[in-house]
Amino acid sequence: MIASPVISPLLARASKNKLQNWAGNLEYSTDRLYSANSLEQVRSYVKKQSKLKVLGTRHCFNNIADSTHNLLSLKSMDGVVALDPEAHTVTVNAGMTYGQLCPLLHSKGFALHNLASLPHISIAGAISTATHGSGEKNGNLATAVSALEIVTAAGEVVKLSRQRDGEVFLGAVVGLGALGVITKVALDIQPTFLMRQYVYENMPLAEMKNHFDEIQSSAYSVSLFTDWRNQSINEIWIKSRNEEGQAFDATPEFFGAKRATKNLHPIAELSAENCTEQMGVPGPWFERLPHFRMGFTPSAGKELQSEYFVPRQHAVEAILAVERLRDQVSPHLMISEIRTIAADKLWLSPCYEQPCVTIHFTWKQDWPAVRKLLPVIEKGLAPFQVRPHWGKLFTMPPAELKSRYKELPDFIQLSQKYDPQGKFRNEFLSTKVFGS
Ligand SMILES: Cc1cc2nc3c(=O)[nH]c(=O)nc-3n(C[C@H](O)[C@H](O)[C@H](O)COP(=O)(O)OP(=O)(O)OC[C@H]3O[C@@H](n4cnc5c(N)ncnc54)[C@H](O)[C@@H]3O)c2cc1C
Repeated sequence: MIASPVISPLLARASKNKLQNWAGNLEYSTDRLYSANSLEQVRSYVKKQSKLKVLGTRHCFNNIADSTHNLLSLKSMDGVVALDPEAHTVTVNAGMTYGQLCPLLHSKGFALHNLASLPHISIAGAISTATHGSGEKNGNLATAVSALEIVTAAGEVVKLSRQRDGEVFLGAVVGLGALGVITKVALDIQPTFLMRQYVYENMPLAEMKNHFDEIQSSAYSVSLFTDWRNQSINEIWIKSRNEEGQAFDATPEFFGAKRATKNLHPIAELSAENCTEQMGVPGPWFERLPHFRMGFTPSAGKELQSEYFVPRQHAVEAILAVERLRDQVSPHLMISEIRTIAADKLWLSPCYEQPCVTIHFTWKQDWPAVRKLLPVIEKGLAPFQVRPHWGKLFTMPPAELKSRYKELPDFIQLSQKYDPQGKFRNEFLSTKVFGS
């Protein structure tokens, strides 16, 4: 382990204490993890290394963040740099998590447009993989980015903004960590708002099939959870804004589903203690948009995840295609979640120029079984030009993946501009994005 004078090595280096991702299904291929505390430290470290990858909060399930050489953490660069009420933007250092930012923003009277199921993730890591929440009119979290500061392979600082840099900016935001080290991110903000969350139970699949559009457009953000077992949607999570004209009318029944009488976890057998408040109790946006609360383990913990994006117009057909695989899927599944996302213009976003429905799988942690199943699901969804989540597990062959992104050649060119020698490339990027 070589400790540089300006970079402090973190713990987790003894071989018996290998650095792992959040779910523990991946051991990173190096224990050389350095923590930078400033832009200058990032620049000097990047200049010295021939190969490295930036680590965020380690919540990806695949090896997108892995490196066999060096890992760089910006965890301690986690503050707000500026809040501009006139321009409606907040600029943060890239190590900041949503969990750190959101209460601060709310206390100043502002909000973000949407959040993922959990606030524990770093902002830079989330935007780099096009992390998303739900909502017909809500783009993924990367669509809130209005400017980026990136340290390139040469250690130079590049500033890109939505206003100034047009297509280059659109190519850089969902960057998979391939362009350089993101050191600052500016995000669009709006006046803070209150929300209510309602959960309904047991919607017959036929109701979902016949009324999918009405269900999804019934509130600001809607998630459907199913284990595919009984021709039903186990839980429907409805997140409604309180403002006039946007509030959801929480009738006791909703397309055959019954309003829950207590807080629930998406996996009904688990305690709802780690879940955000439900039952229509009003609360700030950042305590309702995620399913899971800061300060608790999100989701189930010991799990694997996969997620597939399908163009919105094929939503019901795609859901039914997965439903037909229920006997293969259910034994290995904890829960599935179905969400909708608005279209965007970010080159490597799975929602590039098309609104999407996503079908997500939280699996039991049995990779050999899941690895056999994923190609079956991917084949079932292939007619719909399916795209996998960049940060979750998939088995789609690289050629097929690449064929789904028409801006990929431009992305490759852009990354070659900032990283001509492939300093930030790892095995995931080399095979799935850059390989011929
Ligand atoms: C329990 C759980 C729930 C989840 N829920 C959702 C959900 O609701 N919606 C959804 O879409 N996803 C969800 N995810 C997936 C998660 O949001 C993504 O995997 C996200 O990328 C994680 O961010 P991270 O900082 O942990 O990333 P990491 O795994 O640490 O890194 C991801 C990528 O970002 C790059 N990166 C990180 N920081 C930087 C930086 N400063 N500069 C350049 N590149 C950087 C890395 O190199 C890597 O390529 C969930 C994951 C878990 C574990």
